[in-house]
Amino acid sequence: MTRPPDPAPGARQRVRVFFAIWPAPAIARRLHQEGERAHGLTGGRRMRRDTLHLTLAFIGDIPRERLEELRAAAHKVAFPPFTLRLDRIAGWRHNHIVWAGASELPGELESLVTQLNAALAEGGFPVEHRKFAAHVTLLRNARGEFSATALDPPIEWPVGEFVLVESDPKPEGAHYTVLESWPGAAGAQA
Ligand code: ATP
Ligand code: MG
Repeated sequence: MTRPPDPAPGARQRVRVFFAIWPAPAIARRLHQEGERAHGLTGGRRMRRDTLHLTLAFIGDIPRERLEELRAAAHKVAFPPFTLRLDRIAGWRHNHIVWAGASELPGELESLVTQLNAALAEGGFPVEHRKFAAHVTLLRNARGEFSATALDPPIEWPVGEFVLVESDPKPEGAHYTVLESWPGAAGAQA
């Protein structure tokens, strides 16, 4: 009998994590269909239906024991449930992705991201300084230019919670695990 090799020093001690909103299956299904349509035009790699999400804040690799600090940061965030209307599909040339997005960012979403970033910064986590670009990636490695099109009818996405997700990078595309979720509160200020 041979013993499996010991994990490399530090293995399993780090996690790659991000905060996101995750669509319910019916919304994910519609997004996935839109991805199929776009795929016919640009090719590339379609995101699997169950992986579709909108990233609020990407943290990256951290020691596993810092997850508690992340949870504490998330706990400070208060937002009312809201509806995100995704009304367009567009592409970014610089990273070859095709995405679904909103031409109007709901105030509740803007506030959620601002509060989350403030809590993360306070907790000593790196935060994004670029303007928040709300998007759901549908395709990666898309070819050529993708002309933006309206989503008709738009996708009305009811957002009732945000989640902390662990990402496990794989050659075929990252695998994600939701670690915890935080619901919105009806009386919270946007
Ligand atoms: P893969 O990298 O295997 O193609 P992925 O990008 O979905 O898959 P991650 O790299 O773990 O997986 O990223 C998780 C989420 O965070 C994705 O929505 C990704 O677009 C976003 N993300 C990754 N890196 C950054 C970054 N530096 N800034 C902002 N968002 C990021
Ligand atoms: Mg990535």
